[in-house]
Formats: sequence, C-alpha cells, structure tokens
Amino acid sequence: MIQRTLGKTNFDIGVIGFGGIPIQRLPEDKAVSIVKLALEKGVNFIDSARAYGDSERLIGLALKGHNKKCFIATKSMSRTYDAMKKDLEISLKNFDCGVIDLYQFHLVKTKGQLDQIMGPDGAYRALKEAQEQGLVKEIGITSHDFDLINYALDTDYFSTIQFPYNIVESQGEALFKKAAKKNIGVIIMKPMAGGALDNGNLAIRYILENPNISVVIPGMDEEKQVEENLNAGINYIPLSEDEKDAIDKIKRELGTKFCRRCGYCLPCPQGIDIPAAFLMEGYFTRYDLTEWAQSRYDALPHKASECIECGACEPRCPYNLQIRDMLKDVALKLEKR
Ligand code: SF4
Ligand code: SF4
Repeated sequence: MIQRTLGKTNFDIGVIGFGGIPIQRLPEDKAVSIVKLALEKGVNFIDSARAYGDSERLIGLALKGHNKKCFIATKSMSRTYDAMKKDLEISLKNFDCGVIDLYQFHLVKTKGQLDQIMGPDGAYRALKEAQEQGLVKEIGITSHDFDLINYALDTDYFSTIQFPYNIVESQGEALFKKAAKKNIGVIIMKPMAGGALDNGNLAIRYILENPNISVVIPGMDEEKQVEENLNAGINYIPLSEDEKDAIDKIKRELGTKFCRRCGYCLPCPQGIDIPAAFLMEGYFTRYDLTEWAQSRYDALPHKASECIECGACEPRCPYNLQIRDMLKDVALKLEKR
C-alpha cells in the first residue's frame, strides 16, 4: 500500500484507511472480521466516532491481538469541557487501547461552535489536558463547511482536517492545498459521495491523484468492498484517459442531482436545513443505514415537507439543483410514517 505522512503528526499511514461508519449495522462477528480483513490487507489507520453507534467497540475488538501498529482516530460532537471529558473516557474504554492517536471535533458547523470549543469551558481544553496526560496524541477537526475549515486552518490549533472529497465534490481542493503548505494532515471522508458512486476503485484512485491528500477513509462493510477499495492503493495505477472521460461523464450525470453540502442555499425561511435533509436521505437510501439516518432526520427541527416552494434557495445553489423537487423526494422517503 502506498504510504503518506499525516501532516505534522508524522504518522506514516497507508493512503487508504478504514471508515468506521457502516460497520455499526453489522452483527458483531461480521464487523470484527471485516476490520480484521482490512488490517491483514495493510490498513493502518482507522477512523470512528462516538456518534457511530457501536463502531468504536467493534474496532477495539478487531484490534485485540493485532501485532502491527494501527493508528486510531475517533471524534466527538461534544463542544464543552465536561462533555468532551466524558466522551474521551468512553472512547478509551471502547477501544481498550490506553491512548488514542487522533481525537477530532466532529462536524463543526459554525465559527460560533468553534469559538465555544476553544473557550475556557470548551472541549479543546479537555483534549489538551488529555494530550498532556498521554491519553491523546493529536487533535483534529472535521467539517463539511469550507469557510469553517478555512478558518480552522488559520488558527494552528489542529494537526489534521477531515473534509469531503470525491468525483462530484471537489470544492475542498483549495483547502487541501493550504493544509499541505502548513503541514496539516488531510483526511478525506465521503469518497463515494455518500454511496452515490459505485465504482470504488475509480473513485479512490481519483482522490489519490491529489498529492495534498494524506489518507482517504471509505466505509466498508463487505469483504468484496475491502478487496476492491484497498486494491486501489496497493496496486495503484494513475487514471487512464478513458477513465478520466468516464469520470467527466459521472460528473455531468450526477452533477445536477447531488448536494455537495456547501450551504449556499441557506437560510431557508422555513428553517429547513437543506443539506442535512439531503445528507440523511443519502444515508437512508444509498448507504443502507436506514434506522440511523431516520433517527437523525427525525431530530431535525424542520422537515422537508415544510417547504412552501418559495424558490428562494434554488438560485443560490451553485450546482443548479432542483431543491424543491429533491425535498419532495426526501419527504416521501423519510416522512412516510
Ligand atoms: S423553496 Fe423550500 S427549501 Fe427552498 S427556501 Fe423556499 S421553503 Fe426553503
Ligand atoms: S442544495 Fe446546493 S447550495 Fe444547498 S448545500 Fe446542496 S449543493 Fe450547496
């Protein structure tokens, strides 16, 4: 497997890591065997989250007895000191590993949230203390928001960023370039565009062409997927001209239907979080995380069906998405009960 360094952490990792989101829906023995297979094939970077159900514990079980170094990354939505301390304790217990290599602030959306994290009672202080105690090695941040990550890169608080990037979502390229210049590690989430792309090998090799990327973390829950995804990094070959044409075709075909979560369409006068509604629909339909996606959709304060079709959002979408029609589809799928 091609190895790259994760920015200033100096972790030498395989370019393809393991995304821990989908294993939460598997029975324990199957989840453990999938992670073990990935480890045998050379994965040495695994990313999970407190918000991914049982994922941390399942990964911890798979790592028992594994005799090579595997870097463990996880993340928490906690924003306060006390909440982060509790989450860190749970993560350490779940992985049963004594030290977590990378702990990240999960899905930070606004500068206000980041200010809270960095404040005197904020979650950053809890991770800094843990770092001094040797419980956490590095601190990172994850987000879908370009401006937030751009701002975070200027603070020098973080060793890594985690951001979406795939054939139909390339808006992060300027961030990756900036991060590379500052020697900040770049972790790529959503390499399959939330399940919208079905050729894993092509999707991953597209990402690997970018030298500013440190590691890509596809979620994997089938043996075939593990083989196919890891093969892209083990037997890496640059994209051929035909493959580049195929990628352009995918961009054209999916481009007018796929939400990149940039948030430019907001605010909606009805308070609908448009990108969150589309994200949950993607998880529900394409990722087979139906219960997980449904519970997160149910927690949204305003639902797709509240759209009054005023049309204010559509001219603001740089990808010309038919937001009103797409929201009707979301409502049909996620509000049928
Ligand atoms: S069309 Fe619907 S989603 Fe868009 S701004 Fe109006 S109410 Fe909100
Ligand atoms: S609907 Fe368009 S503007 Fe809104 S988040 Fe998605 S891609 Fe961005």
